[in-house]
Amino acid sequence: MAKYRVVVTDDRYGSYREENDVLSELGIEVEVHDFKNEAEAKSVLKDADGVLVNLFPLTREIILSMNNCKVISRYGVGYDNVDIDAATAKEIWVSRVPDYSMEDTSDHALAHLFNCVRKITYRDRMIREGKWNLHKDWPSFRIAGKTLGLIGFGNISKTLFRKVSGFGLGTVLVYDPYIDDAAIRKAGGTPSPLEELLKQSDYISIHAPLTDETEAMIGSSEFRLMKKSAVIINTSRGPIINEDALYSALKEGEIAAAGIDVYKTEPLPMESPLRSLDNITFTDHAGWYSEESIIELKTKAARNILEVLKGNKPVYPVNSVR
Ligand code: NAD
Repeated sequence: MAKYRVVVTDDRYGSYREENDVLSELGIEVEVHDFKNEAEAKSVLKDADGVLVNLFPLTREIILSMNNCKVISRYGVGYDNVDIDAATAKEIWVSRVPDYSMEDTSDHALAHLFNCVRKITYRDRMIREGKWNLHKDWPSFRIAGKTLGLIGFGNISKTLFRKVSGFGLGTVLVYDPYIDDAAIRKAGGTPSPLEELLKQSDYISIHAPLTDETEAMIGSSEFRLMKKSAVIINTSRGPIINEDALYSALKEGEIAAAGIDVYKTEPLPMESPLRSLDNITFTDHAGWYSEESIIELKTKAARNILEVLKGNKPVYPVNSVR
């Protein structure tokens, strides 16, 4: 029997081969659950040594009731469903996987950009209705020579930046208050205040985390600054854009189009007025996903657990406990 118990709190994958491969070094096979409530979580996690968590909320109450846990490993970049202060108080490491989907999410942002510019999904919909010669409906402009604005310049944004370097863009403006202008310039971008970026960009792609500062940072007054031909892409977090303001901007022609992967409420509610618009394309918070990224995510999440159970720090710590 293995010395340690490692519990999966919510089952989104069905198979746990990668986790078990990594943890087999300590003879561990993960125990998969799909907790429906706090009471169930408390009773199973009471003496668990490690916890792999996806979207299930690991609240203060649950964490304080865990008597044996040494590490919580969140499957993903963000960790807002884990009470970090409670974990730190209990000397439990919290870890995450910050770098598993840079390729996939940047591909996804690019796919949205091309779709908004070349209107692939719109044309597809219209052709199915028997329509043709669709360029008369809606002008398309070329990408070469235009200005791209990147909000946030971390892992995903930089990967996107590398990918667009062959498109002949005129300028890439970057707004990231936490990165030195010199570092942005060194990477080939042009640092810009947010307002200038919004005014000058033909295409805007958001890659900032959701924080108090970024929540609703794009609202009515920001849309009014943008070009009427502007395209906005959001693959970061939904609440960064005020959805009512997005609806008005698209409806009133303040901007041309939007490609959206993330929403204030997910799944996007059936009654959302955004669904009635032709100039928005939706995806289902799928930026992170590819078959390769899932394997990388599962392997790295399990490595965080393995390292702590072997007496080390997690590979990607969120807090510090000793
Ligand atoms: P990252 O931490 O590498 O980069 C985020 C960047 O945003 C940092 O450089 C930071 O300085 C900057 N930033 C912070 N506050 C800002 C502000 N007020 N204004 C502008 N920039 C600001 O993160 P990443 O891996 O590039 O991911 C970016 C976001 O994408 C994540 O926070 C996550 O929410 C989201 N994401 C979504 C998916 C998806 O499936 N759609 C997948 C992965 C990540």
